[in-house]
Amino acid sequence: MPARIISGKDLAASLRAGVAARAAGLGYKPGLAVILVGDDPASAVYVRNKDRAAHEAGLEAQTIRLPASASQGQLLAEVRRLNADPGVDGILVQLPLPPHIDQRAVIEAVDPAKDVDGFHPINVGRLQDGLPVLTPCTPLGVMKLLASADVSLRGARALVLGRSAIVGRPVAALLLAADATVTIAHSRTRDLAGECRRADILVAAVGRPEMVRGDWIKPGAAVIDVGINRLENGRLVGDVAFGEALDVAGAITPVPGGVGPMTIACLLENTLNAAIARRAA
Ligand code: NAP
Repeated sequence: MPARIISGKDLAASLRAGVAARAAGLGYKPGLAVILVGDDPASAVYVRNKDRAAHEAGLEAQTIRLPASASQGQLLAEVRRLNADPGVDGILVQLPLPPHIDQRAVIEAVDPAKDVDGFHPINVGRLQDGLPVLTPCTPLGVMKLLASADVSLRGARALVLGRSAIVGRPVAALLLAADATVTIAHSRTRDLAGECRRADILVAAVGRPEMVRGDWIKPGAAVIDVGINRLENGRLVGDVAFGEALDVAGAITPVPGGVGPMTIACLLENTLNAAIARRAA
């Protein structure tokens, strides 16, 4: 029997509708501010999509555009201004930043209570400790997709392929907090296929087109494919060979239409939650 498809598109739509309904009942509009430095075309598209989605959900969204030549001081001043603005509940600095800017210093300048990307060290630390936190959007989306497919996490063997700060590590922390038995694999892992084959839950976040083959997957496993890779012919594929995996996995996310749409939906939810928590404090 082919795997069940876990649709991120549908889940993201219902999540966004839920955010819109909750935001409408607040009596104020939660504010999201996105800072875009430079003119990287992919970043510009992401920022436009975030802005549109935020407006559609009834949030107050603003995009601050700085030139690629902006100094670190200018960017930090902008972050501090937004930290102090009571109408701004969520601040997101679109990454990557130009090479002359110290990304770490900028991330650390964001007020942790407004850090809707969940990248500030305080939020990273709270996540590692299993405490309530503004959770990074893509990893949060991964967890919601698993929940939507009723994948049982407690005691399950989970393999996270990739150890980046924005996806692999936080996904692993969330799975651990949900009582999975977690292994993190990376470019130095021996017998990667064997590690994958033991996993009841496989989360692929490597950025290598279709690297995970069908025979790397345990029959019946839940597969979440975070990868977004554009082939030379323009086609978008994930890190998992979807056609092969479909015959083996129990449930799987497609690319596109899987994890991708969840990221923005989770950003909206984080902004709403940040607004409620900060304004109540
Ligand atoms: P990244 O920072 O480049 O990290 C990739 C990870 O994969 C690293 O830990 C690396 O290992 C590991 N890796 C690379 N090649 C490998 C190999 N041949 N065998 C085993 N491990 C290997 O990437 P990322 O930012 O986490 O993103 C991963 C993918 O997710 C990309 O396709 C990206 O576009 C996508 N993504 C999607 C969303 C979304 O909204 N859906 C959001 C973010 C990212 P080392 O640490 O040893 O180098």
